[in-house]
Amino acid sequence: MSVLTLEDVNSYYGNSHILFDLDLEVEQNEVVALLGRNGAGKTTTLRTITGTVPRREGRIEFRGEDIADDSVDKISNRGVKLVPEERRIFPTLTVTENMQVARDMSSGNPRDIQEMYDVFPVLDELRENRGRNLSGGEQQMLSVARALIQDPDLLLLDEPTEGLAPVIVDDLYDVLSEVVAEDVTVVITEQNVDFALELSERAYIIEKGANAWGGTVDELNEREDLLDEYLSVG
Ligand code: ATP
Repeated sequence: MSVLTLEDVNSYYGNSHILFDLDLEVEQNEVVALLGRNGAGKTTTLRTITGTVPRREGRIEFRGEDIADDSVDKISNRGVKLVPEERRIFPTLTVTENMQVARDMSSGNPRDIQEMYDVFPVLDELRENRGRNLSGGEQQMLSVARALIQDPDLLLLDEPTEGLAPVIVDDLYDVLSEVVAEDVTVVITEQNVDFALELSERAYIIEKGANAWGGTVDELNEREDLLDEYLSVG
């Protein structure tokens, strides 16, 4: 069953046209990677889905319903949760308080904080620490945990490994693999192609705000030419 459909979607920041006739399809329980160079339009695609891009055109459907004209809040209440690139946690609140606030904001059936501590043992050890005292990797874990506690229908992860040390990236991978195994539907954007492809079943490559390629990760792994053409740095 299709969870998310984008068809011929165009997005703009003011007069800047950023996404051009973009198509995207995400099925129930799938993990889909959005790949592309810096500035290709990955973040804008996620913001278009959540409604935070001010102007957009085209068909955007979530579980068969047209959400193109929904407000940001309404889309969030439908269960679409974004973990943004800049980790949004409360610096003066403790880890537990950060989770509690996210839980209180949930419109559905939030999970228990203890459940999150079982998935994120790193956070369990830091319960009473304030957000501002966590390392970048710990903040990223908390950011993901805050989205997950709301039991999202669709989880959007924007470059979760950005700025993280390799050993923390491994920890995050372990946590996200567990999350993915729990049948959450996920769209993940990454510059770290290997990380994204390890987690995903299908991938889209975006170039200059338009679809450049789409297919399974197995297909993509056979296509070094695509990786060179669209994903090599520089
Ligand atoms: P990155 O990895 O750098 O985040 P990306 O693929 O996520 O890359 P976007 O952040 O979606 O790319 O940016 C797509 C284009 O939109 C870029 O040309 C960028 O300069 C532009 N852009 C992004 N945010 C804004 C904004 N708030 N106002 C105007 N232009 C923007």
